[in-house]
Amino acid sequence: MNLKKIRVSLGSAIVLGLTKGMIGAEPTTAYLLTYRRGRCLANCAFCPQARSSSGRTDMLSRVTWPIFNLNDVIKGIERAADEGRVKRVCIQALNYSGVQDDIVHISASIRSASDVPISASCQPLKYEEMIKLREAGVERVSISLDAATEGIFTRIKGELANGPYKWQTHLDALKTAVEVFGKMRVTTHLIVGLGEEEEDITYMMQRCVDMGVFPALFAFTPIPGTRMANHPRPPVAYYRRVQIAHYLITRGIRRFEDMKFKNRRIFDFDISANGLRSIILSGEPFLTSGCPDCNRPYYNEDPRGPIYNYPRKPTAEEILEIEKQIGLRKNGES
Ligand code: SF4
Repeated sequence: MNLKKIRVSLGSAIVLGLTKGMIGAEPTTAYLLTYRRGRCLANCAFCPQARSSSGRTDMLSRVTWPIFNLNDVIKGIERAADEGRVKRVCIQALNYSGVQDDIVHISASIRSASDVPISASCQPLKYEEMIKLREAGVERVSISLDAATEGIFTRIKGELANGPYKWQTHLDALKTAVEVFGKMRVTTHLIVGLGEEEEDITYMMQRCVDMGVFPALFAFTPIPGTRMANHPRPPVAYYRRVQIAHYLITRGIRRFEDMKFKNRRIFDFDISANGLRSIILSGEPFLTSGCPDCNRPYYNEDPRGPIYNYPRKPTAEEILEIEKQIGLRKNGES
């Protein structure tokens, strides 16, 4: 990697004062992406950075990531953190040899200017490498399972995708990360809509929480040039049910075992109708999930909708729409 340069998500770059532009919702986390010539060594079927993708290398999910000078980015972070506009920095790392040294360098550079919390989202690292990250000021680490089952993982980012990853190695690395960073200071990304059933992803969310790992939900987004460019987005009603299950499990209100499934779809959250309604009316389940203060505006969706993850509290009008999506309110009813 060229350590003088780094990619910054367009929305973050605007908040850091690196470029000008209009944004519908400000990111509360500044998202950085390691810069290197060439592609990631991994080969995840959904990712434009993948080794065999012909997608744009300035894209991750549906967001563009222009290149900036690292020093300018550090100054922008210092200023935006002081003003309270940025509450966390997330260093997203491609898979390449020596990436952990680059994360250490970026993290230490940020730390020399600001005490803003830092997350690093990276491949499974060894225990000693994670210790180095922690010593360089990384507060949380995320190792992305992406898939809810081993079969999907193997097809999408493992052996059957000609990728380097193994399900068990990812799970072991998450356990090691919990040892190094502490319970619930480790995140994993789970992408909804890769072909799993509701029961699979609900089970996996519970398994993560039981391991001390916080699952962050993403909605699958087809990106041109990737092998999954023609794969459909998940139905919104499906995503909403998974978000409610996520809310209940991550807050310890209900467990996977309490919920009932029919044809592998959730039909009973084990919550009274009134209880469920007040949870929905709070809007909380539909906020972006992940590390604290990570709101990833429009990472998965077009700002015109449908919005899978809300980057700020949904409005009363949006809650009405969510109720319709879940089937609790009919179209035309207000
Ligand atoms: S949940 Fe957000 S801040 Fe945490 S690693 Fe993922 S993208 Fe980064």
